[in-house]
Amino acid sequence: EQPTVVITGASSGVGLYSALALAKRGWHVVMACRDLDKAYRVAQQVGIPQGSYTLMKIDLGNLSSVRQFVEQFRNWGRSLDALVCNAAIYMPLLKQPLRSPEGYELTMATNHLGHFLLCHLMLEDMKRSTYGDRRMVILGTVTHNPKELGGKIPPQPHLGDLRGFAQGFKDPITMADGGKFEPVKAYKDSKVCNILTMRELHRRFHESTGITFLSLYPGCVATTALFRNHYPLFQKLFPWFQKNITGGFVSEELAGERVAQVVADPEFRQSGAYWSWGNRQRKNAKPFNQEVSDEAGDDAKAKLLWELSEKLVGVP
Ligand code: NDP
Repeated sequence: EQPTVVITGASSGVGLYSALALAKRGWHVVMACRDLDKAYRVAQQVGIPQGSYTLMKIDLGNLSSVRQFVEQFRNWGRSLDALVCNAAIYMPLLKQPLRSPEGYELTMATNHLGHFLLCHLMLEDMKRSTYGDRRMVILGTVTHNPKELGGKIPPQPHLGDLRGFAQGFKDPITMADGGKFEPVKAYKDSKVCNILTMRELHRRFHESTGITFLSLYPGCVATTALFRNHYPLFQKLFPWFQKNITGGFVSEELAGERVAQVVADPEFRQSGAYWSWGNRQRKNAKPFNQEVSDEAGDDAKAKLLWELSEKLVGVP
């Protein structure tokens, strides 16, 4: 039977091209998006075949919307065979934090807490699936990792002892480590949380459920809308810089193809892995299970993050 995958943030960039790549492989794709008109338009533009996708509303920055999405998915009645947590916001120019309806800083709320709740709830759906190769995939990024060249540029991520989470993460708290608001760091912190979540899911549930938990760095996809909130000059120069100076440039099509491989190809079925094709894009670059940052590889922190995030999103 045709397997079903849910992809968050499938209305742009990496998520959109992942939807295309998986639809082409015969998957039915649930495009979980905040703007369904836009999602429909871009699905047609890139040529995702009619009938191979279903649009469903989700706002990852709003926990009740995440719960409503899961309810809608369940009422729809298909089994969940793969989940791709892809949606993200990056707001480098913000001076003051934005807040989710629950009062949490919006970058962390969208990129981490919304997905944390989604994974938590949809694990139950995935347990019920009889598909032979179920996978949960969360997008990472090189900028999570100060050991890599692409991760050395300040501000570097740092969750500290997660006191911002422990203290409830609402005003006046803006950062996981309880420090001063820094929007670029908030994005990187949220991506560290994404990788920690994937590793903790693996530790807790891989053996008992047989589900494969994975993360990946698809390469620097310098043309996506992720950089829409940056200076216009940056938006012009960044793709050029990645193409000509660092050699890190990856097209949206290739990034989507890489996500599809991690979702579906047998050689990526290694639960707990963080797949990467390296930073300098050589032709025929081979994927490898890359070491994550010290912080993202810290099991005690993964456990603490799990427990504090459960409190913030209100589960179990
Ligand atoms: P885009 O900005 O192009 O796409 C982000 C997607 O997330 C869009 O579909 C957007 O919706 C959606 N989204 C944002 N906020 C919400 C929300 N509150 N609820 C639901 N959906 C939301 O970014 P990319 O494609 O570049 O990034 C996708 C993933 O890839 C991210 O996780 C990012 O961290 C990761 N990544 C990207 C890299 C890059 O170089 N671009 C490198 C490494 C990792 P809408 O269309 O409505 O705006």
